[in-house]
Order: sequence, then structure tokens, then C-alpha cells
Amino acid sequence: MICRTEAVVLKAMPFRDSSLIVTLFTRDFGKFSALAKGARGPKSRMASSLMPMCIVEAVFYRKESRDLQLLTQCDVSQPLKLLGADIGKIATGMAVVELTDRVTRGTEESRSLFGHVVGTLAAIDTATKNTRNALYFFELRLLDVLGFRCDYGRCPQCGIPLDTDLTNGMLLEVMAGILCPACAERGVGFRQTSPAALRALQYFQNVKEVQGALNLSMSVALEEEVAGLLRRALQRHVEGLDHLKSEEVFAAILPN
Ligand SMILES: [Zn+2]
Repeated sequence: MICRTEAVVLKAMPFRDSSLIVTLFTRDFGKFSALAKGARGPKSRMASSLMPMCIVEAVFYRKESRDLQLLTQCDVSQPLKLLGADIGKIATGMAVVELTDRVTRGTEESRSLFGHVVGTLAAIDTATKNTRNALYFFELRLLDVLGFRCDYGRCPQCGIPLDTDLTNGMLLEVMAGILCPACAERGVGFRQTSPAALRALQYFQNVKEVQGALNLSMSVALEEEVAGLLRRALQRHVEGLDHLKSEEVFAAILPN
């Protein structure tokens, strides 16, 4: 059956002399791999739309019993200028794409996740400041979509609203969120959380649109704390997320 869907390219690998095997995360058919015959050939128009992060309209010949679908046509539907332009943006976009690849299994459809991936890539593309905030916003939505939402507004143990102006006592990172000072005293957690990091988490959780997330400026130390906390939250549910391949690659070339 010939099918058409919007998709994000997660991976592309050369296959034989002139073909590509791509992993697509689609709006209507979940994630699958597809063969793009001759895509790297001189006459192919597909190659430029088959790079990771591309948002495309894909036409493919679908056979459910097959592991590898056959891609017959692919055109960029939402051009992103960040591809090949700004290395910081590429690194952030690649982290979004890699996280998506790691958390999705098979062809289960997830339109809300698809919407978040496309929205986040578009926001990274047009961001003029605090680009990586789009990734933190995305990671929080990813926890929601996976069913592991943490409410950073309240203590998961006693339910009281968490105070971000806290001067006494400590906040403690736990599986289900962040413990208030009273519960933290009696609790066991992963590590202490600063009130500023809690404030940032609440900001990212409450802001409606990814563009709004870009308005928060954080110091390098605070950003490191927030980034680590979010990644640990994901890692507790999906193994292997503490080290993204793309982040290792970009850490080596990005200036500090
Ligand atoms: Zn509490």
C-alpha cells in the first residue's frame, strides 16, 4: 500500500553503492526504517531531505510484515536553516533527534510526541538566545508522553507546594520529583537540588510554548544542574540516556 505521512528523519546510513537506510519518526505510523534506493546517486533529489533532523513529507510503499519499508519519495516540508549553519543548534537538534530515537519503540503511533519533536526542532532553528532551553522543555514533555511526569510544583511525598525562595533546609531529588525540606530530612534521594534549579524546572514545566522557554537565562552552573537533573529523570525510565552519542561528539568540538 502506498502511504504518505509527515516525518522527522532520525538517522541515515549509507547502504550499498548509492542507497540510504533511514529511520523515520512519522506522524501517522510511528517509527520505522526505510530503504531509499539510489538516494545518494547523482540524479537523486532525495538525498538533501534525508539528513537527520529534516522534517519531510514521505511517500513509502508499506508492507506491515516487512522490517524495512521502501521509500519512494521524500521532500522537505518544513525547511530548517540550522542544518549546517550553527554548530550549537545542530548539537541541540541532534540531542532531540537521538532522544526521540532512543525512547520510541516500533511503529506505535504517538502524535503528541511527533508534535513536540517538530515544534522543538523549529524553535531551535529560529532561536536567537538560550537555544538549549528548547531541549529542556522537550525533555519535560518527553517525561509526560512516556507517562513519567514529575510535578516540580509540589513535594511528591507530602504534597505541599515547593518553595523556590527557600533559605533553610534542603531540597532533594528523588524518583518522583523533588522533596520539600521537611520530607528531605527523613528521605533518601539522589542528590540535593538548589532552589534556583527548582525555579527553572517550574518555569519550563509551566511555560506553554517552547518559544517561551527560550526567555529564561541561566548561568552555566545552573544550566548544568538543570540539564543533569532532567537527564537523570529520563534515564531512570529509559536506560542508556545518560550518554548520548551526539553529545559526546559535540562536546569534543564545541567551545565551552
Ligand atoms: Zn514534603
